[in-house]
Amino acid sequence: MDNFKTGTKCVQAGYRPGNGEPRQIPIVQSTTFKYDTSEDMGKLFDLEESGYFYTRLQNPTNDYVAAKIASLEGGSAGMLTSSGQAANFFALFNICENGSHIVSSSSIYGGTFNLIGVTMAKMGIDVTFVAPDASEEELNAAFRENTRAVFGETIANPALTVLDIEKFANAAHAHGVPLIVDNTFPTPVNCRPIEWGADIVTHSTTKYMDGHGAAVGGAIVDSGKFDWMAHRDKFPGLTTPDDSYHGIVYAEKFGLEGAFITKCTSQLMRDFGCIQSPQNAFLLNLGLESLHVRMPRHVENGRAVAEFLSGREEVAKVSFPDLPSDPYYPLAKKYLPHGGCGVVSFELKGGRGAALEFMRKLKLAAIETHVADARTCCLNPATSTHRQMTDEQLSAAGIPAGLVRMSCGLEDKEDLIADIASAL
Ligand SMILES: *Cc1c(COP(=O)(O)O)cnc(C)c1O
Repeated sequence: MDNFKTGTKCVQAGYRPGNGEPRQIPIVQSTTFKYDTSEDMGKLFDLEESGYFYTRLQNPTNDYVAAKIASLEGGSAGMLTSSGQAANFFALFNICENGSHIVSSSSIYGGTFNLIGVTMAKMGIDVTFVAPDASEEELNAAFRENTRAVFGETIANPALTVLDIEKFANAAHAHGVPLIVDNTFPTPVNCRPIEWGADIVTHSTTKYMDGHGAAVGGAIVDSGKFDWMAHRDKFPGLTTPDDSYHGIVYAEKFGLEGAFITKCTSQLMRDFGCIQSPQNAFLLNLGLESLHVRMPRHVENGRAVAEFLSGREEVAKVSFPDLPSDPYYPLAKKYLPHGGCGVVSFELKGGRGAALEFMRKLKLAAIETHVADARTCCLNPATSTHRQMTDEQLSAAGIPAGLVRMSCGLEDKEDLIADIASAL
């Protein structure tokens, strides 16, 4: 499928039924798999043959969908996880251990900021956060001898900054480590970070990929391009024998294209078990089948709402990287020529009170802790996700009390704008 265009891959990549087999991907609702002999099963445990034995590690339904996402991103291999959080944790922990260090953009999803900055710190993994617009010098200065990965989000949730993927990839590669990019907001329909030098791509499939607010999930895709053996001292987990698999060296046995995902599945999924349920993988695949049709509509609605809000005197500021007035417009033009996503944030001049009043009056846009599904929704961080912070702390963090994040769905844009106009 790799030679087909994105839309064709959204519909058909990953699963090619044989003669007389189901046209739609089967939901393999089974915890376990049957073998004729213990020797047959033993080969799976030794990673001598690929196959299924227990759904905590791998399931065929998940693998069909992971293969579709890997193909969409232009990667060599992929896997699904139970959530986006699990995807980012696995992608990092697959190459980091106690004593490692990560360089991360500071403009990332709050859950990931907490994962890296607090929870992984308790595991002895340090982080240096750098501004998304850090200069090359500032970026290079963040690296240490024990740095093992660089992390960023193509379009950050909720700040809507755009990552200079090439700049971050160059810095990572100059220091012999991979760049991991969370590509949740644009999806591979609007950006394929591997084409710009990213080595590993992650997703919260909960967002646009599912697209209907139906199933929490995550995905990891490996580009198959990072040469672990060329930096063997930094990545002993991939380049030295794994005692839990009779001394297999992943980078030798599975090569550039298979080492990262095989290790991630056979070690981390085995030990942590953050597997996506096959039911959820099936729902995710339904979403993927229309992703290329939905994304342009999300972008169109987001742009219409952003343009409308820009002309309103009640609004102090609008963030939407596709708007020429946005500071990230030049990067958006480079990395997101067909648009980014449907999320718009804007600050109401009336502050917290105005934001609450505005959101109460909206009829189509519901108040939700969510983004990126078919129905338009909105959130005021000051009174929800960031409600422990004072107005002063909020503005210092770049999240003014009057900020509203609106995720534009797939409704008719005229109706969305009329709803917003009447609430304003
Ligand atoms: C939502 C989100 C996550 C976390 O994903 P979950 O599926 O909620 O665990 C990670 N990164 C980004 C950019 C997100 O928007």
